[in-house]
Amino acid sequence: MKKSIRDLDLHNKKVLMRLDFNVPIVDNEITDDTRIVASLPTINYALEQGAKVIIFSHLGRVKTEEDKIKNNLEIVANYLGKAIKNKVIFSSVTRGEELELKVNKLKKGQVLVVQNTRYEDLEDKKESSNDPELGKYWASLGDIFVNDAFGTAHRAHASNVGIASHLESGVGFLIDKELTELNKLNEPRRPFVVILGGAKVSSKIGLIERLLPKVDKLIIGGAMTYTFLKSFGYNVGNSLVEDEYLDYVKKLYEENKEKIVLGEDVNVSAEFSGMKLNRIRLIDEIEDGEAGLDIGPKTIKKFTEELKGAKTVLWNGPLGMFEEMEYANGTKKILTVVGSLDATTILGGGDIVAAANQFGFKDKVSHVSTGGGATLEYLEKGSLPGIDAIGDK
Ligand code: AMP
Repeated sequence: MKKSIRDLDLHNKKVLMRLDFNVPIVDNEITDDTRIVASLPTINYALEQGAKVIIFSHLGRVKTEEDKIKNNLEIVANYLGKAIKNKVIFSSVTRGEELELKVNKLKKGQVLVVQNTRYEDLEDKKESSNDPELGKYWASLGDIFVNDAFGTAHRAHASNVGIASHLESGVGFLIDKELTELNKLNEPRRPFVVILGGAKVSSKIGLIERLLPKVDKLIIGGAMTYTFLKSFGYNVGNSLVEDEYLDYVKKLYEENKEKIVLGEDVNVSAEFSGMKLNRIRLIDEIEDGEAGLDIGPKTIKKFTEELKGAKTVLWNGPLGMFEEMEYANGTKKILTVVGSLDATTILGGGDIVAAANQFGFKDKVSHVSTGGGATLEYLEKGSLPGIDAIGDK
């Protein structure tokens, strides 16, 4: 178990925090404050404990001087001030006198936000390549380090791994919850059913190989389906296929027939993004020119049956091209099924999270893991550099 913020004595300490304030900004307005709001429990807890809070975050990518103007973190610092109803001090630089003065003047119960950590990337990618001197310098500004940026925990950067290697450290409430929930999959209540959708087999191989020995059933949906179907010799028309993985999926299916669940029918469109003519086809009846973009009704029924009685469900990747209304049905229907189960239900990584948010299922499952790449890597490898750098209890 990793040390959490609750295991640290924060009173009167300069607490360095790595948070994820990488929010979307359009015309100087924050258009989605989810990440800021999600960080508040960790910030407020530290303030209640009498800490001096010094926050680090990245915002976008910084490759040019222009990117610096676009990705100035001051707007987030101001927003945070309103959210915690307290003045937030901002350092416009990531190192040097202004920052050091502001850190040293900070009183307990006050918050300082440091400029976008990726400003340091303009020079030799110092932040993103975990420049040892930078991590050491940032660590020298504080007494304790708390990492609560799960979304970047799969990267070893100066602002997470670098700082953590010099200070006593712990994880914040967001990472703590992610680890608690995702670790439930190590010893899942059974039956354990995994649903994998999305676009590509290639990006899920690590996940498939790690999960297959543990799962009772692996349901395959999304565009990945068509690489399987083509490997069986079926016509898949214009559906997305990764030809270089045909042999791989064929072997995978043959060796795991009793676990892998494929659909029986698909919803095809005669054109990829032209007029949307829905047509249901059995999986061996797809015609030339048609592209499978969603699962069909027989498949929805089959997947529903497979999910009945499941005690643990992990779902990664939508079952169809859900961004288009016409092909969202399969994902929506199966979200309804998963949302009604008496089970540990975890949605993890990328687009299934967007689908669950969009269709209002976020609160109907046990956990929505927001880490994207970090979630997938944690599920694949069982560890992340940004978390490994934190001490154990
Ligand atoms: P991933 O990042 O691998 O989870 O892939 C998510 C993307 O897969 C989404 O943008 C979906 O629109 C897309 N997708 C899911 N099913 C299909 C399909 N049958 N054909 C094309 N794209 C799909």
